[in-house]
Amino acid sequence: MHRMRSDGVKRIVVVGGGLAGLRTVEELRALGYAGAITLIGAENRPPYDRPPLSKHLMLGTVHDTSLRAELDSLGADIRLGERAEQLGDGVIRTDRGEHRFDRLVLATGARPIALPGPGRQWFLRTIDDALALRETLVPGAQLVIIGAGWIGAEVATAAAARGSEVTVLEAAAAPLAGAVGVEVGARTAEWYAAAGVELRLGQPVESVQDGGLVLAGGEWLAADEILTAVGVRPDVGWLESSAVKLENGVAVDEQLRSSVPGVYAVGDCAAFWSGRFGRRMRTEHWDTALRAPTALAANLTGAAQRYDPVPYFWSEQFGRMLQYVGDHRGADRLVWRDPGRGPRWAACWLAGARLVAVLTVGLPRDLQQGRRLIESAVPVDAERVGDPSVPLRETAI
Ligand SMILES: Cc1cc2nc3c(=O)[nH]c(=O)nc-3n(C[C@H](O)[C@H](O)[C@H](O)COP(=O)(O)OP(=O)(O)OC[C@H]3O[C@@H](n4cnc5c(N)ncnc54)[C@H](O)[C@@H]3O)c2cc1C
Repeated sequence: MHRMRSDGVKRIVVVGGGLAGLRTVEELRALGYAGAITLIGAENRPPYDRPPLSKHLMLGTVHDTSLRAELDSLGADIRLGERAEQLGDGVIRTDRGEHRFDRLVLATGARPIALPGPGRQWFLRTIDDALALRETLVPGAQLVIIGAGWIGAEVATAAAARGSEVTVLEAAAAPLAGAVGVEVGARTAEWYAAAGVELRLGQPVESVQDGGLVLAGGEWLAADEILTAVGVRPDVGWLESSAVKLENGVAVDEQLRSSVPGVYAVGDCAAFWSGRFGRRMRTEHWDTALRAPTALAANLTGAAQRYDPVPYFWSEQFGRMLQYVGDHRGADRLVWRDPGRGPRWAACWLAGARLVAVLTVGLPRDLQQGRRLIESAVPVDAERVGDPSVPLRETAI
């Protein structure tokens, strides 16, 4: 375990009161850091969990997703409803005042992308968004979801279960195409129809209007409610005037250090260097926000730990559990593990002879074994990977 050195660090400021920000504070205290911590969060709520917002909370079986029953024991100055607006030399300026720091952590997450047009668009990032959207999902309400990505699919699942009439519009040729490619994403298309959800592919939206939307080509589609779920951008616009290097988020190295000494970034807003994959990565994964703060807190207090994960996330949609581990590129070779085209299957991606990513649908064992193969970077036999009767762990050469 890392033995903490204080290195003269007396004041740490964390900007962003989501999972990554809260976990950083928790890990600092767990390491024995006894100096001052200030946590600045723009939302007027104690930190809460986001994954249930599009799942159980949207369905109505959960109403509160708070991450921690109490915050007092952290011994931190927690500023809720306060927004950081500017980063100066050793000082953060907010809409309420100034905070000096010896070390700064940027954990501002991401915010949804909006589409053009004057009509009302729902987004799903905060619990307030989720509770308000849920109110509208009554039987017979016409909901149009723009984007068949992870969140679009999850909300479609919940909205259909609540009796709403759901249409999902997707610009690409398949759901999840941006994340897993058209060929794999296409395997999920039939799930929509089975749940009574209309899925329209190859349908870019031009603009959102009152009472409906205009599709590229001019077609009008009426809707009571419109959820725009076409992705997020790192919430770092306020740093553009600062010296911090931005590159699809705050560019940080393997130790989560930004280009400015003493300033770090973590979670959805951080684009970290992965030695394992040899490229910069910005994940939008809960698992990253949960785990990266362990290395970060150590580094804030004098260690030099690398954060170089095999990224992981999951999604629950249409009664299925999807899990993805690793990271793949379009050029990587896709190998199916398909026990009889049944409801459970996996897609594997190989870079040369190395397994680099696995998507599983209802196959947690393949996920675990795939993760170990990706971690160890051993060569695998592609033919055996494609044979579902061979346990994935036995495909190493
Ligand atoms: C609906 C939904 C479902 C999801 N489901 C899954 C899932 O199934 N699996 C999975 O792996 N991941 C999922 N995710 C992603 C996961 O929740 C995120 O990766 C995680 O929340 C990232 O944590 P974070 O702390 O980096 O950012 P956030 O949770 O976004 O927290 C950042 C906080 O910083 C605040 N902030 C921003 N700017 C400022 C500022 N200037 N000053 C002060 N505060 C500021 C924001 O208001 C926010 O509260 C889901 C996300 C959403 C929205």
